[in-house]
Order: sequence, then structure tokens, then C-alpha cells
Amino acid sequence: MKQNPITFSRDTKRPFHSKYRPTHFDEIVGQEHIISYFKNVILNERISFAYLFIGKHGVGKTTMSRIIAKALNCSQPYNGGACNKCVNCINISLGKSFDVHEINAALNTGVENIRHIIEKIQLSSVHSPYKICIIDEVHMLSLNAFNALLKVLEEPPKNVVFILATTEIKKIPNTIISRCHKLFFLPVDKMSLASSISKIVWIEKGNITNKALLHILNCSEGSLRDAINLVDMLMINDSSITESNCSFLSTHIPYSVSNLFFSHLVSGNIFSTLQISLYIQNKKWLEDSLLTQIQKMLENEIVNSSSSSLKSQHLISLWQLLSKYHSYNSCSTSIFSSFLFELTNVVSKFSTSKNSNTFFKKKKVPSFIKIDDIYIC
Ligand SMILES: [Zn+2]
Repeated sequence: MKQNPITFSRDTKRPFHSKYRPTHFDEIVGQEHIISYFKNVILNERISFAYLFIGKHGVGKTTMSRIIAKALNCSQPYNGGACNKCVNCINISLGKSFDVHEINAALNTGVENIRHIIEKIQLSSVHSPYKICIIDEVHMLSLNAFNALLKVLEEPPKNVVFILATTEIKKIPNTIISRCHKLFFLPVDKMSLASSISKIVWIEKGNITNKALLHILNCSEGSLRDAINLVDMLMINDSSITESNCSFLSTHIPYSVSNLFFSHLVSGNIFSTLQISLYIQNKKWLEDSLLTQIQKMLENEIVNSSSSSLKSQHLISLWQLLSKYHSYNSCSTSIFSSFLFELTNVVSKFSTSKNSNTFFKKKKVPSFIKIDDIYIC
């Protein structure tokens, strides 16, 4: 696996997400396809005037924008990346470059904000090859602001690069989208998240159990920033992170609990699944996260089972039921109770059907496993 260096900083008071923010392409995790694309773009000097970064929060869109700004304006670039040592790189890192302008459209939605930044980029660059305009949360701009932006995208000044970033592409006018090169950021995969978190914990001289790590991965759902923020919060009180001391940070259900629920569910052990449901409700964990996790587990199980088998039919019935309840905006207690009632019917129907023993016997969960044994670590 590729090892991504995380820069060590002696500044112990900075929040982790700032302290460990990548400063070079090689430090970014989970977006290798975009790094590779931009290295080629820069090496071959095929720079477009507008890029649109699309992806969920915390996956590196803003960080990537700043690193690209450095790579484009670096006076000593190496292999498509920035040196991080020249005056241009240092000024961009410090937010002091006259040639890189960044606004957050969530805080600057109006047309006057866009006009102001357009005025700045009309001036020729001071020390750099490119004038770069980064607009974060671009979907938050007003209609008039989008129209002002469209005008400049229709006739872009020479050597100006726009980098627009959004979590909600549907809110951006097609006239803007069609003028940009679109790049889709992926949720950060669990291996990369785990590697990054483990390194930070190690640098901070802490330790983390495997179950706690898994819990943080599930809570952060592919957002590296969310994962790092969770670790930061946990390490303020205690350098040892365990699943039990991190559960208060989130109403998400620990993976070990949903995994036990799943094991009992596919084993036809409805009594145990109801017991775990009660445990989840007493803990006031979000039932939504149980449905999400179980649905993913079912999908994996369905892919690995023979399409015509009895097991597959059972799994598909369960998946259809999960999908029905997952389509609700939120899972209230009454909706969750209805789900459990229907779940009982589906499992009972299958467990009394002919030949069902063949599958259920294979999937029997040892009776000595209790939920607290699994959850408490
Ligand atoms: Zn440089």
C-alpha cells in the first residue's frame, strides 16, 4: 500500500485537521485519480480555465485546489508538483499571494462578492504565471452572482484559472457546469482513512483499539476531515481511544453491534435481533445508521451468494425491506417499530419454509456471544 507522509508539526495547539492538512499532492489520500490527472495537465501544459470539483464534504476539494494553485505557480516545480519552498509556494501556503484568490460562497453569496474577485483577476499577475480564483461551496451563490460568473467564464481573461468546489452539483446552473472540466472526488476508502488516523494517533503518542478505529471509520463515512476531527476531540481527554470512550461522540451504531445484528438476522434468530434493537433504542443510537450498515452488509452477502439459491432469495427479501425503510427521510421510533414488525414477518416466513434449515444451520451464531461482550472493549 502506498505510504502517504504526514507532515509533523510541533504546534500542539492547532486543530488536527489544520495541523495535518496536506501541502503536496503526495500527501493527499483517496483521490489518486485526480492527482494523476492534474500532474499530467501541468506537465503537458494543458491547463483549462475552469474546473469544477464535486464531492462530499471533507474529502479534500479545498486542499486540492490550494495544492494545484501552488503547482501552477511554483517557480521550481518537480514532477508536476510544487516545491513548497519558493516564494510563490510559501505565499500561497500563508494565504498571502496576490495571484491566488479564495472565497467561500456560503459566506459570500452576492453578486458584489463575485464582481470584486473578478476585478482582482483582471489585473495581470504580479509574480506568478497564473491568476487563480478558488470558489468554495459555489452552489451557494445567488442567481445574479452566477450570471456575473458566467460572463467571465464565457470570455475568460488570459492565464486565469477558476477552481469551483461543491457538494451539491444539482444547485449549479448548467450554463456554468458546461464551461468547466468536472472532477468527481470519491469518499475516502476505509484503508486510507485507517492509515491516516493511525499515523496521526502514533505521531500524537496515543493509541487506538481496532474496534474504536472501525467505529470512527463508520461514523466518518468517507470524510477524512470528519475522521480527523473525531480523533482530535477524543485525544483532548485521553490519549487512549477505545470503542466505549468514543461512542459518545456520535449517535451512529458501532460496527460490532450492527455486525452482531446482521449475523442473527441472516441466521433467522429474530429473538436476538429484537434484543439488539432494544439495546440500540436504549442507547439512543440512530436507527438510520443500523439500516444503512445492514443494507451494505446484505449487498455484500448477495453478491457472494448464488443467484438462484434459497439463501439469495431470503437476502433479497431482507434487502427490499431495508430499501423500503431506508427511503424515508428519517427513521423515527414508530417507523423503526414498523420495520421490526415487518422484519419479523419476513424472517418467520422464511424460517418456516421448506429447506430453510439448510441455510440457517450453516449460519448459526454461537449462543455464548452476548452484545456487551462484543461492544465493550
Ligand atoms: Zn514552489
